[in-house]
Amino acid sequence: MLGDTAVAVNPEDERYKELIGKKVKLPLAPEKRISWDGKEEVSNLIPIVADEYVDKEFGTGAVKITPAHDPNDFEVGQRHKLPMVIVMDEKASMNENAGEFKGLERYEARKKIVEKLEELDLLEKVEKIKHNVGHSQRSGAVVEPYLSIQWFVNTRELAKKAIEIVEDGNLKFIPENWKKTYLNWMYEIRDWCISRQIWWGHRIPVWYCEKCNHSNVFSDEIFNSLAEKVIFNMYANTRIQQVFSEKEVIDYLFSPNFNQSDKTNIQFFEDVVFHSEIPELKNEKEINKFLNRTYKKVPILDEALLDNKEIDEKELIGFLPHAVFYMYEHGYIGKSFTTNDVIEGYKKHADEIKAVYRIVLNKLKREDVLLDKEKLEKWLIDHAYGNCPKGRIFFTEKEGTFSVIEDNIKGYKYYLELKCEKCGSSLLTQDEDVLDTWFSSALWPFGTLGWPEKTEDLDKFYPTSLLITGFDIIFFWVARMIMMGMKFMNEKPFFDVYIHAIVRDEKGEKMSKTKGNVIDPLDMISKYGADSLRYTLTALAAQGRDIRLSEKRIEGYKHFANKIWNASKYVLTNLENYGENITYNITYLNLSYEDKWILTKLNETINKVEKSLKEYRYNEYASEIYDFFWHNYCDWYLEFTKERIYKGTPEETTVALSVLTYVLDKSLRLLHPIMPFITEEIWQKLPIKDSEYIAVSKFPEYKEELVFPRDSENIEYLKEVIISIRNVRADFGIEPSRKLNIYIKPEDEEFEEVLKSLEPSIKLLAKADKVIISRDLDKPKNTVIAISTKAESYIDISGSIDIAKEIERQEKLLKDVEKSLGISERKLSNENFIKKAPKEVVDKERERYEELKQRETKIKSIIKNLKELLNLGG
Ligand SMILES: [Zn+2]
Repeated sequence: MLGDTAVAVNPEDERYKELIGKKVKLPLAPEKRISWDGKEEVSNLIPIVADEYVDKEFGTGAVKITPAHDPNDFEVGQRHKLPMVIVMDEKASMNENAGEFKGLERYEARKKIVEKLEELDLLEKVEKIKHNVGHSQRSGAVVEPYLSIQWFVNTRELAKKAIEIVEDGNLKFIPENWKKTYLNWMYEIRDWCISRQIWWGHRIPVWYCEKCNHSNVFSDEIFNSLAEKVIFNMYANTRIQQVFSEKEVIDYLFSPNFNQSDKTNIQFFEDVVFHSEIPELKNEKEINKFLNRTYKKVPILDEALLDNKEIDEKELIGFLPHAVFYMYEHGYIGKSFTTNDVIEGYKKHADEIKAVYRIVLNKLKREDVLLDKEKLEKWLIDHAYGNCPKGRIFFTEKEGTFSVIEDNIKGYKYYLELKCEKCGSSLLTQDEDVLDTWFSSALWPFGTLGWPEKTEDLDKFYPTSLLITGFDIIFFWVARMIMMGMKFMNEKPFFDVYIHAIVRDEKGEKMSKTKGNVIDPLDMISKYGADSLRYTLTALAAQGRDIRLSEKRIEGYKHFANKIWNASKYVLTNLENYGENITYNITYLNLSYEDKWILTKLNETINKVEKSLKEYRYNEYASEIYDFFWHNYCDWYLEFTKERIYKGTPEETTVALSVLTYVLDKSLRLLHPIMPFITEEIWQKLPIKDSEYIAVSKFPEYKEELVFPRDSENIEYLKEVIISIRNVRADFGIEPSRKLNIYIKPEDEEFEEVLKSLEPSIKLLAKADKVIISRDLDKPKNTVIAISTKAESYIDISGSIDIAKEIERQEKLLKDVEKSLGISERKLSNENFIKKAPKEVVDKERERYEELKQRETKIKSIIKNLKELLNLGG
């Protein structure tokens, strides 16, 4: 009320039409208030204005307008050119514009205002109304809108290219639906307020002139030399008009805030050291010593250039001898001389020296000539902190906005000042505000690579390949990085943006402490290991779906880790005993059918993994390697190798072990990104390694020459045979320890050969006493048939079970199934159930019915089989 500067009514409101343009008196405000910018006196007589914004039906239909403390009123104020009066300070206490309420805290002032209105008999009624009020997310305090000056970025301009690059598909979002989200935001983009009133962050590089009010924008880009940039940056870090020594400059150069360390030394020498004094030039003897030590090395440089030889970094600081030599030549020996003489000497030779210096630098790798901080300091102490006859010059003096004042005597300290671009005054104050954190983060993709310098890193790594992040910062961060990248680099910051899933609990609910459904990763790691947790998250990370995490899943994948461990133990133990001749050059080995099969499977997996990773389908990648390792390598291949390892010829053992180890090695590499610890641990124990750590070893690549489709297919048929036999065992309730006689009749000669080559393994895997493989078999007496694609197997179960008893058992099972079937059938024929029950429940019941029906058929056929056996036997 104290900050009101108008009363607004709707222009269509008949009640107030006559009043528009007249003025009303604010009863509580002082007669004179001062506008927000201090430029205007604002009366307590305020106009009545007409504005569409006012809702006739709401309240009295007349609205007080407080432009400095309400965003909507601000807009009305802009339309009617109303003055703006701030009545609170930054702590939400009333200021001098509040007259007698000045100094009161806002809630206190509210009470006092009501009292005052009552006292003046101006209060008609007190009514409670609900309205929206903003609250601070952290403290919960009510936020008061408050007029202040802020810096804004015109984002519409910036957004144009950032929209284009995504629309054109040159920058992709994965999953793709986020593209739409991004674009919708960008189409509706508003100016971005980038100034923040907090004390951390990049300070806004604007200096206000106290004399002429000009806003000077300085950045280190206006300086050419690195030394000037450094000093400017120290400046921006509040070192304004303070003295500092070159040691501080060096500290700054090597501080993590200063992002050009790889260029620093070289440029530092060019910019800074070129101008340094020569302490050795005290007398003829010293000079001669100096020349003897350094000048003669110059030819070495030339030779080295011709021969591409390595050069000691110290010899590269060759400009000093040149300057000295110049002076030497010009008769300065034994004479006193000035700094100017040195500079003159240097200047004459500088271009020539610099040219040589550059050639040397280009010939050498950068790092060869880089000094570390310690060396640089030592060098400076050696060369600059000596007894200088006339002081030293570190930085050249410059005209214009920037100048260096040299202090010759007082302990080698320097100080600088900035000058107003417009009036030349040095009475400048930097803006106190800092940049919005997202503004600073938006520079990340190129800022970290050395920008604004044209560094090798920037050249090599920008644009980056992939950004992985959460959907909640697509606008805050991703969009801003794209805009800034397009603006400053004229190139996207990354090719792909992968938006990862959100981790929820197993029911899909957000984890929260109050709900008590939080799964703490650290707990999970100590219980199940970091690998299991990491694997679980990867396995669940399907594109476009939230991760429903449960402890059970993590526990489940711990079994996988155990499986890996146990399988590896089998390999390592055998390697210890028989592995001395193994090789990874397996192409040249005498490979068996099963070797060819596992190698084919491995390469198929590598292929699939490569594709999944390329498409960012991490869950598929996880399940592909899981399936391969558990269901092919562990379940089958390991078993297949036992016969050859334990009973084979030395050559057979070596081949089996070589393939076994080769496949383990590749599997570990495939697994490493999602199970880093266990894979590294095991890999370190392998006898053949091509690098120090698996972490830096080569990721497996598909090898056409190790793919054998036909042999692989035959092993698949063989697996089918074994599975069909196992099924019969389960169906007829034959104990696992009971060994049976099995007859296998393959379809063709080729398959017969495969089966025969693996007869011992079949025996082992099907738990058989005797295996007879022949194409000339008739179904023997007392056997049950197991059918598979390429063979028929006859299993002799006569001695294994009491057939009569088994028939009884199966008939009982049949009865149970039929009973359940009846219930299910009744349910499904009940119309009420179908109509009223939730769809999932009905679907589930239908599924159950189908399952029961299948079981019924199966049991019936088993009983039929058994009865036949009984008749034959009896
Ligand atoms: Zn000025």
